[in-house]
This record gives sequence, C-alpha cells and structure tokens, in this order.
Amino acid sequence: MQNTITFADVHRVKRHAKQLRINFPDLSHGKRLDKAAVEICGARNYHELSRWFDRTISQHVDTPDGHQGVSHCRYCDFRFASDHKPDQKTHREIHERFMEAEEELGYRPGIYVQRERMKTDGYHLMTNGEHEEDRILGLLMVTRGWFDRSLRSAIESGYWTKHPTFETYVSMMLPHLDTVDLGISAILKARYGRTNEMISIGQTNWSPR
Ligand SMILES: [Zn+2]
Repeated sequence: MQNTITFADVHRVKRHAKQLRINFPDLSHGKRLDKAAVEICGARNYHELSRWFDRTISQHVDTPDGHQGVSHCRYCDFRFASDHKPDQKTHREIHERFMEAEEELGYRPGIYVQRERMKTDGYHLMTNGEHEEDRILGLLMVTRGWFDRSLRSAIESGYWTKHPTFETYVSMMLPHLDTVDLGISAILKARYGRTNEMISIGQTNWSPR
C-alpha cells in the first residue's frame, strides 16, 4: 500500500506522537512515532510513512539518464545530484519548506520557467494590448513574475510568513513600475495604493528589515 503523504500529515503524526507521551510515558520517542504513524496515517510504522513521504517528493524529480546528471525538482525547482546523500537531504529540507508554505498560503510561487513565461507574456500584453485593461493585466503579470521570485527567496530563507501579499507587493513596487509605464502605474496606484522605500529601486525582492 502506498499513500500520498502531505507535509501536514507528517506534521500531524509528529504532534500526535508528542501527545502520546501523556498516556504512554514508557514508550520511546521512536515507538511513539510508530504508533502515531499507524493511528493517523495507517502506515505500518514511522519508517514506512517516511518512505511514502519520500516517494511523494521524488514524484516531482526528473533525473537524466547516466551518471553525473543533475536532477531537477519540478515542484521546488531545486537542482541536485540525486545520488549524493547530502544533496538529497538538502533537497528534502527545501522541498518541505515549499510544501509547508503552500499548505499555509494556498499558493506556490512559479518556478523559473513559469516566471519567465509569465513575464514574457506580460510584457507582450503590456506593449501590444488593445485595451487599457489588457495593458494593466500585462504589467500585473510582469509584477507577478517578480513577486514569485521574491516569495521563493523568502521560502528558501525561512521568512515567508512575513512576506507581503501580492496586492501589498504591487504597492511597494509602484516606484519601480513608474519607470516601466507611468500611465499604467498611475492606475495601479489608485487600485493598490503606493508604499515607498520598502523595496529599493532596481530591486524586485522584498526582504525583512
Ligand atoms: Zn523538490
């Protein structure tokens, strides 16, 4: 039997294992984890649960044929040597951060190719859009590409809970957007407000102060 295990499942099992300490003070931490894995997820033990979780994660990894190829995770965009244990561990840590953030935010920022496509399509719409709304949408798409990059950095570095929402991010980027298209940025200012000096000119990444 193989289940798809989410980050929340693993978290629930760990929390339950802690609570079991009250009724089963004689069990070791490992045994409590096993018991929790059985009760919460129907696994035979914690080891099996952990294997299910590994499999859930590796579904997203593309590994080229042959040795010394660089594996790529389509979910968290991490590139690593999949036959190198420390790399595997780092990937799992990064991957779990993205799972946790996605479950909490209900949103996962685009990976590199998705962000580049979003920006290219956005620029095209912004410069060629027939209607004003199209051009506004174009600039918002470009901004979304930057926002996703910024949020990814925040997730990788562990400060994503402080990262602004997209709407707030647009207001912070307005000084920058003025230099892209003054007309459209004026309309966005009316919609989102304007927040100066939160993101330096020339920068697109938000970071905590
Ligand atoms: Zn990953």
